[in-house]
Order: sequence, then structure tokens, then C-alpha cells
Amino acid sequence: MPLTLTPVAVLHDNYVWVVDDGHHAVVVDPGEARPVTRMLSSRRLHLAALLITHHHADHIGGVAALKAMSPNCQVIGCAADVGPLLTHPCSDGDQLSLPSMELAIEVLAVPGHTLHHLAYRIGKWLFCGDTLFGAGCGRLLEGSPQQMHDSLLRLVSLPDDTLICCAHEYTLGNLAFAAELEPGNHHIHERLTRDRSARQRNEPTLPSTLRDEKKTNPFLRCHLPELQLAVGARDGNSVTAFTLMRQLKDIFRTA
Ligand SMILES: [Zn+2]
Repeated sequence: MPLTLTPVAVLHDNYVWVVDDGHHAVVVDPGEARPVTRMLSSRRLHLAALLITHHHADHIGGVAALKAMSPNCQVIGCAADVGPLLTHPCSDGDQLSLPSMELAIEVLAVPGHTLHHLAYRIGKWLFCGDTLFGAGCGRLLEGSPQQMHDSLLRLVSLPDDTLICCAHEYTLGNLAFAAELEPGNHHIHERLTRDRSARQRNEPTLPSTLRDEKKTNPFLRCHLPELQLAVGARDGNSVTAFTLMRQLKDIFRTA
């Protein structure tokens, strides 16, 4: 049975991603339980596992309630980050399988937003939490710029047709920032037009492809001289450019 991917919008602007085979489901970062249980019961899906990228409340708020309703479901994440909620701690490089579903889950450590942030790959889908966003990246709440830069480099090395399933609908705001840094980049303007109309139809701008992120996401373009110039990095170093770009984004306000 082929796998289906469904975003469930929760809280203010979070997506909970659900992967199912028609019978069982894997749920990523349930910040809230009720919209997820509604979706699962409308499709008559049994919860096989919860994948947790990091410990923030908007990613784990629904874990306890979902686990109580489906006591056999596995709760998978980093022990150092999420702690006692987990039934199956995992770490970088692990290849996970589930007893009830035919799929392979690859675990990648991507520190930066938090120190022990994980991403998960299932086929072409990359569940990257608050690390890589549509046209942006997460804030550095625990990690260093070097860590986040290296985590993004790691994600960039995945195949171009990787589908970016991140945890927030931040794409339009991020593209406004990207357009300010690179006013001459037509890929950014095309993506803005496309993603604006998606939002007007109340559809997600995600998943995006890694191919599109490489053309439009300034945080994946810190090695380019024009981006380094735009953020005032003068040493030719992409980590310096990343650091300055992240600081500029932290104070950027869209009109
Ligand atoms: Zn977070």
C-alpha cells in the first residue's frame, strides 16, 4: 500500500505531518492532540508512532493525550531533548522500523534551534521540525550559528527532490526577507506569487522541494558572494554570513 502524507494545521501556524498506509499512521510533532485524533478517526487510522523533533510545547503538547488514547504507539525522539515522554529513544544515524508499517525512518541530528534537534527521513519526505523552513530557518534558541549552519549543510546534501515537511507556515514572511536580500532573484518572486495564491486558497505552501529551497532560501545561499555582500560579511566565510543573516532576520518585520 502506498504511503500518504497529510498536513494537519494546529495551534497558530504549526503543521503536524501524518504519514499513513491506509491502516496505520506515523504522526510528527503533535503540538495538539484533538485535530490529530479527528483526522485519524475520520480516516480510521491506528496510531503506530509519534516522531518528535524537539522539546518545544508546540511540538509535543499533544503527545501525552495521544499516547493515552493509543497506549501501544511508540514515542520516538532524542532522550536528551524530550526525556520521559519517549518510549523509543533514538539518535543520529539510526534506521528505524515499525512493527505495524512497512517503512524505514532515518534519523539525522540537526542541532541549532535546540541542541538535540532531530530530523527524520521517510523516503523523499524530510521532517525537519524547526530547523529548515520554507525559505528560512529556525531561530538559534540553544545552539550556535556554526551548529545551525552545519545542520543546514547536512540537509542541503540530500537529494534535490527531497520534500521539506517543516513544522511552521512561515514561508511568506521568509520570502519577504529573502526578496529584500536578493531583489534580483526571480526564483524568489515566482515563489512568492505561487505561495501567496496557495495561502489565499488556505492551502499550505509546504512541502517544498529542496531544489526550490536552494534557489530561494537565503540561509542555504550563505556561500554566495552576493548574499555575503547583502548581509555585510566581508571575510568570505559562509558561517559569518549565516550569523549576520540570522541576526537580521531576528529583527526583520514584514509590512
Ligand atoms: Zn521549536
